[in-house]
Order: sequence, then C-alpha cells, then structure tokens
Amino acid sequence: MMNKESKYFTTGIVYDERYLDHRTGNHPECAERLTAIYQYLKEKGILKETKEIEPYLAPLEVVEYIHSKPYIESIKKLSEMGGDMLDMDTAVSPQTYEVALLAVGGVLAAIDAIMARTIKKALCLVRPPGHHSMPERGKGFCIFNNIAIGARYIQKKHDLKRVAIIDWDVHHGNGTQAAFYDDPTVFYLSIHQFPHYPGTGSENEVGINEGKGYTMNAPLTAGADITTYKKVFEERFLPTMKSFKPDFILISSGFDAHRDDPLAGINLLEEDYGLLTRMIGALAEEICNGRIVSILEGGYNLNALKLSTYEHLCGLMEIEGRREKREQ
Ligand SMILES: [Zn+2]
Repeated sequence: MMNKESKYFTTGIVYDERYLDHRTGNHPECAERLTAIYQYLKEKGILKETKEIEPYLAPLEVVEYIHSKPYIESIKKLSEMGGDMLDMDTAVSPQTYEVALLAVGGVLAAIDAIMARTIKKALCLVRPPGHHSMPERGKGFCIFNNIAIGARYIQKKHDLKRVAIIDWDVHHGNGTQAAFYDDPTVFYLSIHQFPHYPGTGSENEVGINEGKGYTMNAPLTAGADITTYKKVFEERFLPTMKSFKPDFILISSGFDAHRDDPLAGINLLEEDYGLLTRMIGALAEEICNGRIVSILEGGYNLNALKLSTYEHLCGLMEIEGRREKREQ
C-alpha cells in the first residue's frame, strides 16, 4: 500500500479561511458562498482525494502585470481606512486588500504546483472574484483580476507562450477581455447571457490589431440550457482551442448560469457543469498535458453553487459525480 506522501493527486484545491475576511455586508457575493462549497465538498469526502494547495500573498509586481500601481494602492488605502464601496455593488472592507492579494496568490500557487508536476489540475475556491476587474478599477464584485494575472504569470514566470481562458460565468468577463483584447497569445472565450450585466460580450467583439481573432464571445439569450452550451462548445470553443494549441487552460468558473441562480436567467443544472468540464478536460489532455486551473467567479444560490462546484470538481478529477439524483 502506498503511504500518504507518495500518493499521486491529480487535482489540487486552493482554499483558505482568510478568504472569508473580505466582508461585503448584506450582499450576494458573501463569505457564506465559500463555506457552503467547502463544507459540502468535505461532506462528500472528495477533499481526501485532492491535494491542498496553500495560497500566498501575490507579489505586487505580479499584480502589476494587469493592474496599475495607483489602483492597487487605492485598494490598500481604502482597506486601511476601514473600507467603503468601490462602486454601487463592489465592497471593500478592512481586510479586502490582503484577501484580494491572497486570491491572486491562490491562483499563482495552483499554477506553480502544476508546473512543478505536483498536481495536474486545480480548483481555486477564492474570493473576491475577478473577471470584471479592469486595469484601473475594480467593479462588479471584483477587486483584482485573478485569472488575467494568472494568465500573464504563466507566460512571464513559467515561460509558456499561449494561454486559453474559458469563461462560463453567466456574466461577460469584460475585465479579462479588456486585458488581452489586442493580444494574440491569450485567447479569451466567453459564453454568457446577453444582453445582461456588464453589457459587453457581443458576437462582434473579436479583438483588435494583433489580437483580432483571439477573443470569442458566445452571447446567449435568457432561457438557454445545456443544449446550446454543448453546441457552442462542440462547434466553436473546442475546435478553436484545438487550433490555437494553448500550453495552459484557465477557466473563469462562475456557477451563476445555474437554473436556480437569482442574478441571471440561464438554465444549466449542476450536472451540466460536470459535462462541460469533461469536454474541456479531454481536450486539455490532448493539447496541454491536462493543465487546467479553474478559478471561482460568481454563483449566488448557495445550494446550486455547492452542487455545481462538486460536479465541476468531479469532472476535473475525471470521476463520475456521485450526486444524489436531483428532485425533479
Ligand atoms: Zn457572474
């Protein structure tokens, strides 16, 4: 029998109780989201089969790959002064600056572990989320753009050339798209409800200059379900990624396209996230040694969120979801 040290884990999990210290008050993006997920994964016994990856505070020069110094400094100051609202729906609390650095650092730690071949894939259960965050300002519940910084980190620290970002959060990742809009080395693919917050992500947003053709948006009208998602994946996203040949795949994994989510109108079920994950996982095996880091974005119905995250994790671990049959 193998001892614990020699056990090979394919999937790492980033989680830290300090992620709960970003306080948002009475807000859909609350600390309970993370505890609901973590408790459920624990209950299901699946964490024992994963490797715990410890996050660290992201170095400022890495956060500066995407964000301006003055913006980073402004978040630090706002936190030190006791916090405030950044805009109508984005809160900064006393611990937010540090927690946001730790969210970025969770993604970096996951990437490091994959590059060190400790694990093959990782799921980062981090908050605050990131994909709406712009170089000069946070918005839409997001402070630092975790996934965009991660993509640059893969290129600059680990010398890989091409990164694909798949964003299935129900909202368009305007911050991530903006970060790489003129860049042919990071392919941004997003499937989201449209029209909806933040208003961007139409079909004709495809990148500019050298980046033209390296942004792909699949806007869906409210009411869409897995049939449409499957079609978009099979006919557009997967073939596109296959010819792009990324060295690494990142997923902006929001679970707010679930049928029960209060902030949107798409009708995915939790098991659909498992299906989409397996589709991406199979492709990753073929083109980038299976390297995937998935990063939590939205998802605001706690029950749907925990069930969907579990299905997604099972997909990453290439095991069947051992979920109870859903009550119809
Ligand atoms: Zn969202």
